[in-house]
Amino acid sequence: MTSTADSPRPVRQEAQRATDEITELAPGVLRTQLPIDLPGLGHVNMYVLEDDRGVTVVDPGMPGRESFTVLKARLRAIGVPLKRVHSVLVTHSHPDHYGGAGRLRKDVGAEIIAHRRFRLWWDPYEPPDIDVEDAPLLTPQIRPNGETPWGGRGYDIPWSRRARLRMHAKFPRVFGVPHPTRRVDEGDRVMLAGREWLAIHTPGHTEDHLCLLDPESGLLISGDHVLPTITPHISGMTRAVDPLREFFGSLDKIGSLGTQMKMALPAHGTPFTNVVERVEHIKEHHIERLDKLRQIGADFDRPATVMDIARHLFSARAQGPMADSETFAHLEHLRLAGEFQCRQRDGLLEYVRVS
Ligand SMILES: [Zn+2]
Ligand SMILES: [Zn+2]
Repeated sequence: MTSTADSPRPVRQEAQRATDEITELAPGVLRTQLPIDLPGLGHVNMYVLEDDRGVTVVDPGMPGRESFTVLKARLRAIGVPLKRVHSVLVTHSHPDHYGGAGRLRKDVGAEIIAHRRFRLWWDPYEPPDIDVEDAPLLTPQIRPNGETPWGGRGYDIPWSRRARLRMHAKFPRVFGVPHPTRRVDEGDRVMLAGREWLAIHTPGHTEDHLCLLDPESGLLISGDHVLPTITPHISGMTRAVDPLREFFGSLDKIGSLGTQMKMALPAHGTPFTNVVERVEHIKEHHIERLDKLRQIGADFDRPATVMDIARHLFSARAQGPMADSETFAHLEHLRLAGEFQCRQRDGLLEYVRVS
């Protein structure tokens, strides 16, 4: 990939390609990586949690045969036959996280554990995974489709991936459909790797995002909620009234665990120990973005569309539907706080700062 106007950015750890490295993070807790190819993301961590009955896998990669072949190779390398997989934990409803779950259910009868609000995105408007400023380039695969709450163009996903997801929905007997067999709620206890984990609902990145804490060892399965070097995408394409407010609440919830957390096991990138610092950093990132929006609102002398405002909020390289969607989520947060007003004009929402 090449970028024209902007200088090249260092490759973030979340963007690095999957390796076949297997790391033991704690007794019975292993990190493996499965390949994915999404803007800014090169792998997803599939954690393997061992106990007397066999193993639980966390976030088993993308739907489809290629990913499943690698999944099997990783388990083989650990010395675990497929039939020993008794459970799959899915942190949230993005396809790079639930991909192999249905197949594991179908092939070996694995239990699928997810949050109570888990739901599938079979439609083409599935939001991308990470913050636009962290994406290396907006790819031409994101095309207009013109159906967004703010009236601008929306996301599209590559036809090949969409076709694969449709196949997945159409032929559940072949690929398996990842319907959770166990839906957990805030505060529920889940036994994995012979440890008792506490379920923590962390909506924001998606409404059904789930983190799990083992209070004894201080391990936190953090999914996409808290990542080591990038911030998750907060989408305006959601049923939540104020997804950013939910995200802040979920960050505070994890931040308040403080020193109980010894190590976060993120879905992308390397496990890290400075969890509270990362939580604060991600919050600051959004607080700065809100401040910038207030300033943009003050500079505009007329109501402006989400696209107009996104052009001022994001760098040239980050422009596009993801930037618009994230801008919309932030504008709605400020509108609900009474700092902006919104009107509809020619099918487009326009925002103006309340002075
Ligand atoms: Zn995600
Ligand atoms: Zn992800």
